[in-house]
This record gives sequence, C-alpha cells and structure tokens, in this order.
Amino acid sequence: TAGRIAFLGLGHMGGPMAVNLIKAGFDVVGFDVIPAAVAAATEAGVPCTSTAVEAATGAAVVLTMFPSGAILLDAYNGVGEPGLLEIAEPNTLFLDCSTIDVAQAREAAALALSAGHRSADAPVSGGVVGAEAGTLTFMIGAEAHDMEQLTGLLEVMGKKLVHCGGHGAGQAAKICNNMLLGISMIGAAEAFVLGEKLGLSHQALFDVISTASGQCWSVTTNCPVPGPVPASPANRDYVPGFAGALMAKDLGLALNALENAGVAAQLGPLAAQIYRKFSDEGGAGRDFSGIITEIRGKSQD
Ligand code: NAD
Repeated sequence: TAGRIAFLGLGHMGGPMAVNLIKAGFDVVGFDVIPAAVAAATEAGVPCTSTAVEAATGAAVVLTMFPSGAILLDAYNGVGEPGLLEIAEPNTLFLDCSTIDVAQAREAAALALSAGHRSADAPVSGGVVGAEAGTLTFMIGAEAHDMEQLTGLLEVMGKKLVHCGGHGAGQAAKICNNMLLGISMIGAAEAFVLGEKLGLSHQALFDVISTASGQCWSVTTNCPVPGPVPASPANRDYVPGFAGALMAKDLGLALNALENAGVAAQLGPLAAQIYRKFSDEGGAGRDFSGIITEIRGKSQD
C-alpha cells in the first residue's frame, strides 16, 4: 500500500491537487493554517486535521504546496512546536511541490536526509486550471530510486513529469523556464507596440512572428494583444492566466539564483525589476501579458 499522504497547504493549487489524489484512491489527510482553506477542502472531500503535526504523524508522504521556502523550512524545523522532520516516521518521503528558492530547496532536502527521510522537489506549471484538471507539468528533482513512488503520485495530478536531476533540479528548471518566459513576454510586448507605432496591424505582425524566427509561447499562445489568439488573456482585459504577482515572485527567485551562481545576466534581472514594478503598481492580479499596456502607456503618442 502507498500509505497515507499528509497534504499541507490547501490553497488555490493544493486544494484541487489533494482532491485529485483522493479521487484516485489515495489516503489523504490535509492541513492549512487558513480556516477558510480547510473549510473549502473539507467541503471538496479532503479530510483535515487541526495541526500539521497531526497530519504528518504516521504519514508515508508529506506533500507541501506553500507560498515560500521560508515557510517550508519553518514547517520542517518547527517553530514553537515540533518540526515535521522530527515527528515523521523514518524514511518518510518529503515532497515539496511549491515554487521556492533553489538554495532553500537544496537546504530542505539536506535537512530531510540528515533526519533520516527522503526528499523531492517537484514544482509545477499549468496553474489552477491544470491543478483542477490534473494536467500539471511536474519538474522533478529527486534521487532515481524515489522516481517510481513519485511517478505513481504525480501522474494523478499531472500529465507530464520531467525528472530534471537530483535535489533542487526541479526548482532550477522551473525558474530557468519562467525567467525566459518573463523576458520573452516583455520582448513580445515591445515588438507589438513598435509594430503599432510603425502602422502594422496586430494580425499582420502576428502572422509573421508566429511563423518566423521570433516565434515563442508569449506570442503564439499568450499573445499580449487581443485578436490573433482568441483564448489569450488580452481578449478578456488581462484576467489571468498567469498573474503578475506570480511572475514577479518567480523572477525574484531567478534573480537570487543568478546572483548565487554568478551568471553575467542582464535581461533576467531587468525582467525581475520590470515585473516587480508591474505587480506593485496594479498588475499583481492581472495577467503578466498586461505589461504591454504599461509599455504602450509610457510611449509617446
Ligand atoms: P495559495 O496562497 O493559494 O496557497 C498556499 C497555501 O499554503 C495557503 O492556503 C496558505 O494558508 C497555506 N500555508 C501557508 N503556510 C502554511 C503552513 N505552515 N501550513 C499549512 N499551510 C500553510 O498559493 P497557490 O496559488 O496555491 O500556490 C502554491 C505554490 O504553487 C506557490 O509556491 C506558487 O508559486 C506555486 N504555483 C502557483 C501557480 C498558480 O497559478 N497559482 C502555478 C504554478 C506554481
């Protein structure tokens, strides 16, 4: 038997992910610090405990879906209460699916291993829609001998699993991808505003870029202007999609990693700065492609 899964962090992503595990027949016990999240999960069929320790006691897997690495490390170590690493059965699989700092992910794995447990990082892409539909992509940092157990769990919540390497490799892949995404969206938005100034129609420029060498997801799927891609957030006044606050968060993690790794990057840090400002100045809840309205707004008439 797979054993019990303690699912900690029942927010926008964690709630529906826990529901999919239960639908697939896994024994899941949930916990969240926010009573409303617990109430929503309970309503959706996830049995919940009133403390994290209670959920993790005797569990075979401790799965976390938290906002940050600091929260993860606090939960592992315990702050004013026993830490999860201390109370868990030996050899428990500590599986973190949050998007967190690469260095903190590696620290969490090292702590778990030295406490006699196993560890994996498996951040996701695909958003709330993917979490609900069970179609997430998981980027996995884990030891090879844990992949069979991980696959059995993650394929219930996702449709694509990529084993990227050892501990921290999943987080590393996630932030590399999202750094490129942030940069490419700013580039796409600048290209469309320049096209407007030069008298090009959105459709004409789209028809060229989408089949030429500037082609990228930011244009072909999440096009920042309305019209050419009817499903893109630009067609619904930039309702996300992928919210500016989350892009700003991921680029902040990329910035830390660039600095720690000593990469001579220029566009990654600039994209982090641009999306931090976008998020702080009204874009937090808008799709990140809404950056085009900032660029257009600041341009000369
Ligand atoms: P969220 O804020 O909705 O959920 C996080 C939950 O964790 C909250 O309900 C919070 O109360 C809970 N929590 C915080 N501290 C806790 C603790 N000590 N014990 C138990 N629960 C605790 O966030 P989300 O949108 O579900 O995102 C979760 C993670 O997934 C983040 O790291 C995010 O970057 C990542 N992510 C989100 C999306 C998305 O589209 N929302 C997409 C990909 C990745």
